[in-house]
Amino acid sequence: MEQIYSFQTQLLHNRHKFNQETGAVSVPVQHASTFHQKDFDRFGVYDYSRSGNPTRAALEEAIAELEGGKRGLAFSSGMAAISTAFLLLSQGDHVLITEDVYGGTYRMITSVLNRFGIEHSFVDMTNLHEVAQNIRENTKLIYMETPSNPLLKVTDIRGIVKLAKAHRCLTFVDNTFMTPALQRPLDLGADVVLHSATKFLSGHSDVLAGLAVTKDEELGERLYQLQNAFGAVLGAHDSWLVLRGIKTLHVRLEQSSRTALYLAEYLQKQEGVEKVYYPGLTDHEGFAVHSYQAAGSGAVLSFELANEEAVRQFVNHIKIPVFAVSLGAVESILSYPAKMSHAAMSREERYKRGITDGLLRLSVGLESAEDLVKDCRQALEVAQTVK
Ligand SMILES: *Cc1c(COP(=O)(O)O)cnc(C)c1O
Repeated sequence: MEQIYSFQTQLLHNRHKFNQETGAVSVPVQHASTFHQKDFDRFGVYDYSRSGNPTRAALEEAIAELEGGKRGLAFSSGMAAISTAFLLLSQGDHVLITEDVYGGTYRMITSVLNRFGIEHSFVDMTNLHEVAQNIRENTKLIYMETPSNPLLKVTDIRGIVKLAKAHRCLTFVDNTFMTPALQRPLDLGADVVLHSATKFLSGHSDVLAGLAVTKDEELGERLYQLQNAFGAVLGAHDSWLVLRGIKTLHVRLEQSSRTALYLAEYLQKQEGVEKVYYPGLTDHEGFAVHSYQAAGSGAVLSFELANEEAVRQFVNHIKIPVFAVSLGAVESILSYPAKMSHAAMSREERYKRGITDGLLRLSVGLESAEDLVKDCRQALEVAQTVK
């Protein structure tokens, strides 16, 4: 279908805006695991909920449309979506993967896929030359995440897609940080978009979910077969929660992104803040590429304080954000990569990647920007007293 509406209207006005039978203005939650077949010779669209469920199907259709893809598939978590997509590979294949990939994906590649004879190399995905040099005969997939976590490094999606196409390998993009509201990798030539819908898409820290969208029908059918075979599907109620969250995606991201920029600019000027990472800052390394390929800078920023003790004082005194892993919610979430997302990495390896003991990541929620600045100010004042 041609895109007739702008994105924010599309979020609300799709084929499921009301139920064709009852007029209900909310997708019915279909809990049934199995479906009665009325005709002995011809079974209906639905037979068993692992293979297909009407509530999940509504979400799958919605995300496919929003990402501009042919086929959407919903999984029980972001990792379930990512892991299932990796099953498109076979023994002997090689994957090129961004070195600052999400921790769970890192674990999947290095401790599971390797046991099945799938090789991998980590590269600095922001360096096209390095990527080109690492493509091998058997490279079948290039895996991107942009902006990355927690340093918000920006990968040139079109540049990577061009390299991949020349070598006939697939490209996957983890689009969790941007969502289709801000970045549409399929339009830039990628083959598969992956999401932890646990984050911005659902947006309320109350559901675990994953989504995959393919650019073409054939790849979509292969991924569907894997979804059905592996069975890590999203439940009906959780599908409904994600559908509901998506309705407010645009307005949530718009406000959170505005506040994130405001905070990033504020933090940049503070003594005691050594560095701020946010792709919306003009001095961010990836600013130009990001501005080209995305419609906004998102709600996640990272910043660096002097040392671990300064971070401890800051975290102990800040009041508004919850101190937790995860991101992309209505409430601001502050996390400490050294002890959370990157705890498994050696200190030396972390420092090599710029993830110091002073680094904090903030996912900005919907609180007032002024309240957040005031809160940061008082916590920074305490943190600065640390030697
Ligand atoms: C959270 C996250 C994941 C994993 O998703 P789950 O829903 O936690 O399984 C994958 N990629 C990114 C970028 C994430 O932030």
